[in-house]
Amino acid sequence: MADTGELPARLAIMPFRNRVLLPGAIVRIRCTSPTSVRLVEQELWQKEEKGLIGILPVRDSQAADAPIRSSSSDPSQGPSTILGERDAKGGATSLPDYQQPLGKQPQDIIQWHPRGVAARALHLSRGMEKPSGRVTYTVVLEGWCRFSVLDMNARGPYNIARVAQLDMTKAERDSEVQTLGRQFKIAAGELITTLEQKQKTVGRTKTLLETAPAHRLADIFVANFEGSFDERLAMLDAVDLKRRLSKATEIVTRHLQTLKVVEKISQKVEGQLSKSQKEYLLRQQMKAIKEELGDNDEDEDDIVALEKKMQSAGMPANVWKHAQRELRRLRKMQPQQPGYGSSRTYLELLADLPWQISSEERELDLAAAKESLDSEHYGLGKVKKRIIEYLAVRKLKPDARGPVLCFVGPPGVGKTSLASSISSALGRRFIRISLGGVKDEADIRGHRRTYIGSMPGRLVEGIKRVGVNNPVMLLDEIDKTGTDVRGDPASALLEVLDPEQNKTFNDHYLNVPFDLSKVVFVATANRVQPISPPLLDRMEVIELPGYTSEEKLRIAMRHLIPRVLDQHGLTSQHLEIQEPMVELIIQRYTREAGVRNLERHLAALARAAAVKVAEREQAFQLPPGVQPEPSSLLEGGNLSENGDVEMEVEAMGVHGRDVATAMAGIQPFLVDETMLETVLGPPKFDGNEAAERVSTPGVAVGLVWTAVGGEVQFVEATAMVGKGDLHLTGQLGDVIKESAQIALTWVRARAAELKLANAEQTNLMECRDIHIHFPAGAVPKDGPSAGVTLVTALVSLFGKRCVRADTAMTGEMTLRGLVLPVGGIKDKILAAHRCGIKRVILPERNMKDLQEVPAAILANMEILLAKRMEDVLHEAFEGGCPWRLQARL
Ligand code: ADP
Repeated sequence: MADTGELPARLAIMPFRNRVLLPGAIVRIRCTSPTSVRLVEQELWQKEEKGLIGILPVRDSQAADAPIRSSSSDPSQGPSTILGERDAKGGATSLPDYQQPLGKQPQDIIQWHPRGVAARALHLSRGMEKPSGRVTYTVVLEGWCRFSVLDMNARGPYNIARVAQLDMTKAERDSEVQTLGRQFKIAAGELITTLEQKQKTVGRTKTLLETAPAHRLADIFVANFEGSFDERLAMLDAVDLKRRLSKATEIVTRHLQTLKVVEKISQKVEGQLSKSQKEYLLRQQMKAIKEELGDNDEDEDDIVALEKKMQSAGMPANVWKHAQRELRRLRKMQPQQPGYGSSRTYLELLADLPWQISSEERELDLAAAKESLDSEHYGLGKVKKRIIEYLAVRKLKPDARGPVLCFVGPPGVGKTSLASSISSALGRRFIRISLGGVKDEADIRGHRRTYIGSMPGRLVEGIKRVGVNNPVMLLDEIDKTGTDVRGDPASALLEVLDPEQNKTFNDHYLNVPFDLSKVVFVATANRVQPISPPLLDRMEVIELPGYTSEEKLRIAMRHLIPRVLDQHGLTSQHLEIQEPMVELIIQRYTREAGVRNLERHLAALARAAAVKVAEREQAFQLPPGVQPEPSSLLEGGNLSENGDVEMEVEAMGVHGRDVATAMAGIQPFLVDETMLETVLGPPKFDGNEAAERVSTPGVAVGLVWTAVGGEVQFVEATAMVGKGDLHLTGQLGDVIKESAQIALTWVRARAAELKLANAEQTNLMECRDIHIHFPAGAVPKDGPSAGVTLVTALVSLFGKRCVRADTAMTGEMTLRGLVLPVGGIKDKILAAHRCGIKRVILPERNMKDLQEVPAAILANMEILLAKRMEDVLHEAFEGGCPWRLQARL
């Protein structure tokens, strides 16, 4: 170093391309090019004592276009210089072999840095390159001290520079330098301590830290870090000790910071890793301890139990293979591992499915089946007949691939209970799969197990629940499945119902085929139209149109009341609901096609009675021989004020027989009108509704067909000042909007003829708007059958005459006034009958449909057949249509 000797005035220069040698740093160079071999040979090898050469950084000409300028702030350094220009054959081509020539073109400027470091050869060795026989040298150089180049000339193939030594020692006594030196040493010490924790080889550096002067250490430290060329150049240029120490402190501190961040991150990662490793280790130890103690491992036990269950499930060979593979996978997993739970649930399902279990089919006794159908269901002659036929075919040919029965009808007409009767007739278990609102194909077929929260489809789930592979499976509300982006459940159902395909039904979750061919499928629907045609093709539709009031009464008396009483722990000795009361319930509280609401109301009465019976049982014991008066249920009772409130009153453990014994001799409660009102609330319907609603012109009574059967529908029309527009309200579909437009056009076209206006030319809509409203709730209304009703309402409005309140109508109408037939006649007539309507106007071509209507209903009603709109109007108004002049197309 400068403080140990003088630097010669001239030095042979070895260029360092994009690299910087700093004092104190050691590099090893292999020289193979003729220039560098010559330089080493002449300047180092042939000299007796260990020689010195100058190492001068050279910037790659691509790296920077501008020549390097010294960043030195030391005024004594002077401005930076561009040294030398490459000449064509010039010595500047003498570059070390580990570097590429500085430029391929003669005009390339060699950007020599103005400052370099004199280097001492610590070790030299000579070799020979094979096969060329060229001499090579390997040199180990140690940076010694900085110099600046005064000028440079070529000597043979390499350059010789006149140099001035830069590293001085006198400034070291400067107190500022000493402070900076201390600061640097503190930073360096910290770095070494940090490094020491990572590697054990810092001993030598530590000694160096204690002995070497700070400015020398600065160079050594920076030389040992990975840094950019510019950063090292800046360090080389930092001839001033203060600058050098600050720069080195900055670099060391930065390095320290980086180390700390890296350390922190790796500690975190290690921490996480070791936590799970620790857990694993502890678990293994626990297992070993348990084994040692002879304790049973619960999980292992569970898996053994699961395997046993799987073995006894009787899976087919291919399924068993698949299950075994899955079990092996499960065994390798830790219970805490993700996927363990789902794998287990899957295997449980495989083990639970009734692969071989079937309910034993007893010999089918058709007479008994008929009897049981009759005893469970009132009426429904045709339906029962069809069911018996179906059962007879099954008896003769058990594996017959008959069509799937599909009961179609409004709610509460007994579809589900008929299906359940089929299952008891066949002696099979019954399972109901509700398909209402199913829009996702995965609901039928299941989700693939790759989904989080995946599960089997409803069918496989149902089979698992019922526990046999040959149940009667009711596909309830098959018309309520819809299609959306998640697939088409109907197409999946098609596969289920196809005897060819359902042998190997593939549930996505199960992922192995399951044989559904032994299942007896029965379906229910409210309407046929929404069922997709291919699906409908697989089924035989059996219609259940709804009951008349008389039928409802019989059903209630024979079936519903005994069942409801039994469900509430009562007998006929506790509660008596007589026919007139049931009739009242039917008339005033229900207006449905089925009997579900009726059953609900009867249940409400039974609950009320159960409370009373239970109270009476507790309150007093009658002395023997005393006959109590027949009591009203409401004596001192505080039953629900509003009959609609479903009272959740349990029968408080009162069982029929107990009560019967306890209450022997006590008169039953009699349901009367007052009780009806108290328990069920004020009547919801009365016979006057139609009369009240059609008491003003512009209202007509229509009959519509909805998913809940037939319904009476009032159509209201009104006129107001306006611009001749037609407004429609009341949850309408597109078809009904068109019907309204047609009706209005027809009426306007016949204004004069119908005596609604004075002259042919009179515009009925002049200065007025028409508003037509279809009340009755949020029931969506569509279909063309409201055509005649709309015309009648409009004629009534314009003619200012009321429509007959006892007359309801249905029929589609053409623009020219022809009345076309419509569907659902039976349901519509039943609905009209329920509402107390006495006359019904029907399209003439619907006459054939009247055969389906019970004779008892027809006997009580006047059915009027219309061919043209004029016929309808004639019947709809009191005394005929007074405006009718002549029938005209
Ligand atoms: P759906 O499936 O058509 O909606 P349910 O089968 O659930 O109707 O029937 C509703 C209730 O009405 C059930 O308790 C059922 O036993 C009863 N029910 C319906 N029709 C009859 C009938 N003809 N005879 C006896 N009970 C009936």
